[in-house]
Amino acid sequence: MFYLDVYTSKPSTLVPTADDDQPRDALTNELLKGSFVGFPRTNPDGENGEDDEDEPVVVEEDERVPKGGKKKTKKTMDFVLEKNKEAYRLKAAPKCGHCGEAVGVVVEGKFEGSFYPTEDDGKIHVECYDEYRLGKAPSCIFCSKPVTSVGGEFSGKFYDMDEGKLHAECIDAYEEAQENA
Ligand SMILES: [Zn+2]
Ligand SMILES: [Zn+2]
Repeated sequence: MFYLDVYTSKPSTLVPTADDDQPRDALTNELLKGSFVGFPRTNPDGENGEDDEDEPVVVEEDERVPKGGKKKTKKTMDFVLEKNKEAYRLKAAPKCGHCGEAVGVVVEGKFEGSFYPTEDDGKIHVECYDEYRLGKAPSCIFCSKPVTSVGGEFSGKFYDMDEGKLHAECIDAYEEAQENA
């Protein structure tokens, strides 16, 4: 035996349904109750999902989609409980092309939320970018270190040689080595 008080400004009915029919949290599969948040489901085609993600749609409880209308909503929105929204956001966020963690969301003490886009439509944390850049850079044919600007060590200038790229800083040593070869 339990009592349920419902306060609403709109005409409402209570419809008993099986648990399986209840809308559930997209992350934890808990029943949705109280306040929850809808996120536009990430579009795999990448058409317009991107910018909407930052603005979760807050759904009031009495606007919950009734049975029958559920299907349509389910296609485009994921609903999660208010308490799970950060976890969902992390899970749904695109992943960093360097470290594989969520990009575009703030992670306290770790990521400030900013990222650099890459040429192949990827995203790299600002925090990861230096390492990423070094990892992507071609190696110098002389010293094998990455050919890109490295604070204090390399300017990022290079020569395009037949064998590959050569640091501007390495050209003298390289030519000397060639002469002695
Ligand atoms: Zn990263
Ligand atoms: Zn070099």
